[in-house]
Amino acid sequence: MSPSADPLSDGAAPVGGVHITYLVHCPRQLWLYARGYRPEQRSDLVAFGEVVNETTFPRRRDVDLGEAKIDWVTTGAVVHETKSSRAPAPAHSAQVRHYCLLLERRGVNVRGGVVHYPLVRRTVDVLWDDDARTRAEDAEADAQAVIAAATAPERLTRDQCRGCSYLDYCWGD
Ligand code: SF4
Repeated sequence: MSPSADPLSDGAAPVGGVHITYLVHCPRQLWLYARGYRPEQRSDLVAFGEVVNETTFPRRRDVDLGEAKIDWVTTGAVVHETKSSRAPAPAHSAQVRHYCLLLERRGVNVRGGVVHYPLVRRTVDVLWDDDARTRAEDAEADAQAVIAAATAPERLTRDQCRGCSYLDYCWGD
């Protein structure tokens, strides 16, 4: 599947959690995703992650903000995100900060966030303060700049691409 052109033809694209995750992982992945390239839909790893999310906290209700779907929010308000990976990554905290930013813009008095790693029974707290807000705003602006770019960002090095569901597109042929 080839990426389609100009996702910003109707104005600034809304930035969701996936956009921020891909930005941190690889700007090229974000650029391709924004143009409709979705190889991760057939990825076994993604399917595994969805099963973990659906079975770990079955009574929690997600919060759908339109551009982003938050795993759940507890009173306070604390944003919760569940990951199927075993190792914390900067992209996970960046995603939670983005959700905090989106909620705050809707008038919610956000207290912070927690990333849950049920496979290793671990949690990582995500601070929400002035510095975190600035980091979230910068990440959102960076994502919008990548999405608006006319050409795809360069590939990462081959070893950095290991496990990426976009491998076939970036390195095939
Ligand atoms: S294969 Fe590599 S360059 Fe392509 S999107 Fe994935 S991480 Fe980025």
